[in-house]
Amino acid sequence: MSVNQLVSANLKERLKEVFGYSQFRGAQEEIIRSILSGINTFVIMPTGAGKSLCYQLPAIVSEGTAIVISPLIALMKNQVDQLNAVGVNAQFLNSTLSKAEMTKVKKDTLGGVVKLLYVAPESLTKEENLAFLQKAHLSFVAIDEAHCISEWGHDFRPEYRKIKHIIENLGNLPVIALTATATPKVQLDIQKNLQMEEAALFKTSFNRKNLYYEVRPKMDTKKQLIKYIKHHKGKSGIIYCLSRKKVEEIAELLNVNDIKALPYHAGLDGNVRMANQDAFLNEEVDVIVATIAFGMGIDKPDVRFVIHYDAPKSLEGYYQETGRAGRDGLEGNCVMFYSYNDILKLEKFNKDKPVTERDNAKYLLQEIVSYAELSVCRRRQLLHYFGEHVDRDCGYCDNCLRPKEKFEAQDQVALAVKATLLTDQRFGIPHLVDVLRGVENQYVTSYGHHQLEVYGKGQDQEANHWASVFRQVSLYHFLEKDVDNYGILKVTEKGLAFPEASYPVTLSKDHDYSNVTEEEEEDKELLNTPAKAHDQVLFELLKALRKKVAKEKGLPPYVIFQDPSLEEMATTYPTNKEELGQINGVGVGKVTKFGKPFVDLIAKYVEENEIETASEVVVKSAVNKSKTKIFIIQQIDRKIDLEEIADAKGITMAELLGEIEHICYSGTRLNLDYYVNQLMDNDRQDEIYDYFMGAETDNIQVAVNTLGADDFSEEELRLMRIKFISEVAN
Ligand code: ADP
Ligand code: ZN
Repeated sequence: MSVNQLVSANLKERLKEVFGYSQFRGAQEEIIRSILSGINTFVIMPTGAGKSLCYQLPAIVSEGTAIVISPLIALMKNQVDQLNAVGVNAQFLNSTLSKAEMTKVKKDTLGGVVKLLYVAPESLTKEENLAFLQKAHLSFVAIDEAHCISEWGHDFRPEYRKIKHIIENLGNLPVIALTATATPKVQLDIQKNLQMEEAALFKTSFNRKNLYYEVRPKMDTKKQLIKYIKHHKGKSGIIYCLSRKKVEEIAELLNVNDIKALPYHAGLDGNVRMANQDAFLNEEVDVIVATIAFGMGIDKPDVRFVIHYDAPKSLEGYYQETGRAGRDGLEGNCVMFYSYNDILKLEKFNKDKPVTERDNAKYLLQEIVSYAELSVCRRRQLLHYFGEHVDRDCGYCDNCLRPKEKFEAQDQVALAVKATLLTDQRFGIPHLVDVLRGVENQYVTSYGHHQLEVYGKGQDQEANHWASVFRQVSLYHFLEKDVDNYGILKVTEKGLAFPEASYPVTLSKDHDYSNVTEEEEEDKELLNTPAKAHDQVLFELLKALRKKVAKEKGLPPYVIFQDPSLEEMATTYPTNKEELGQINGVGVGKVTKFGKPFVDLIAKYVEENEIETASEVVVKSAVNKSKTKIFIIQQIDRKIDLEEIADAKGITMAELLGEIEHICYSGTRLNLDYYVNQLMDNDRQDEIYDYFMGAETDNIQVAVNTLGADDFSEEELRLMRIKFISEVAN
């Protein structure tokens, strides 16, 4: 084994042992190796991608203490709780600690037992804390929510500006900075500020595949809201409102309608706010109603819906807020209620700001309008906003599931491109639209644009229509936004080639939310209800048990086990601690600390319901115990038709057979008779069976050739081979 392989094996072992995960996600392993080898590392990944692990695991395997700088005290406590639950010594240093607690944290750190020390930036600047940290043995520094450094981001914190200087004072420590939100401009700003231009950069797609995006007209909103939440009964959700008053009003409305909800905003007393947040984390209430400014502290992996009751102020903010849904990779629904009136209201708030700030804010709002009103794939729009070009629609947003009318737009696209070119690529949408529509205002004439060939060529369409054409044309990358000058459009290469090489292009008509009928709004709920593969009854029992255990231990339920782990338990029915340890997200620490009541519950359930568990059928080699494989074994056990299993997993029949063969060849016996018998009569089965009995090889191609492709399908042969191997070899 090479050193590299050794390190990998060791990291993976610790990943399973401590966190219970058997695989790294995405770039996690490379990131961890990067910081472990002392290289400054910069990570930009969407919420829910698993950034925390990127500094937690290296901190655990390193000597000394890692400093984690994090902006919010609530978040720190959260992470420290989670780490302690898996048996890692993590502590925090902030203004909420008493003198005695503070002394203990310092003593433990100097004693070398603390693996992660969470610190707020303002605590870092304190002289006595600095002096103490200089004495400690430190491994590296992690800067979480690194976008707080940038004034261009949506969450600037001045104290973050001082971090670099402090790190320098702590010696030459490697730095890992992480954020979930960075437009290219913000990214550059962070790197400059931390002097990390040379850092290893890990930037993954912002796409959150499990999130469903939807915009609804702001009509009958309260009724819609209540209906929606009742449809998602028992699930956690966040509702964002613009004002404190609205927050209070909606929270009350929900309570009156038997939905357990609490408010959360800056006007509440600190203790009340903390208590409300805890009640949400501990699942004493299902819904938290919050102002947009607050919520970074709400960090719960199983939030199933995020509703914007009022329009957000920027798409960055929107993405960040919706990002709090489905962090655990399971269901996450993001709904925005939209009306143009909200935008006008927000514009009024900006009235008194200095000119450039106001223009900037207006531009950000325009992006919201565009997002809401365009009937183009939402995900595509969001990703486009963050500079990612996607060339396909997602199929999992309201615009994809309910497409709007389209129109043929070849000539209009050509006109839009030409207008941009002929005005020297120096203008934004409003001016370009004026030129095309032949509006003779002072601007247009002062630039001489009334003399252009394209002037007035688009007279037959409304201004709104043209604005939409320009937005869609940029989305499809005929035009692009100028990075340095907000709002100005430039022509791309694709755009330059277009008027010459013109080809058909269809665009979609915008939504008109001022004019929606009730029927159109009916049965939206049913559109994206995902099918459940696990045992729902057991899942609910496990959830109830989790809540009880959590209460006893004074921890949020998800610290005990997260939803994906419970779902897996309700699929594979682990009835002893070894089996429980195989569940993704369950490490040694959790098995020991929390495991017993869970396996007891499952064992009882299995017995009462006479369920044959996976362990009775599985598993000679642990290698094949991937989630999919376990699922397949389980389903075959329950005599589910193979077509159905393939459908449930979203794979083809051929792929499914491949998986089954793999399971079989690694020594697990599967009984497919229930399925094979439907497909072939006994004579036919015998013929193939006898063939394999006498054949020198079990190669399928050879079998097809020998038995004749006209008489037997490949699928039949593969199925019989599985039966043969199961019965004879296993
Ligand atoms: P981020 O900080 O990027 O928003 P988190 O660190 O909160 O994301 O992780 C999101 C979720 O993913 C958490 O529920 C975490 O337990 C889970 N997770 C992280 N790494 C893995 C992994 N390798 N395998 C499975 N789940 C993981
Ligand atoms: Zn879509």
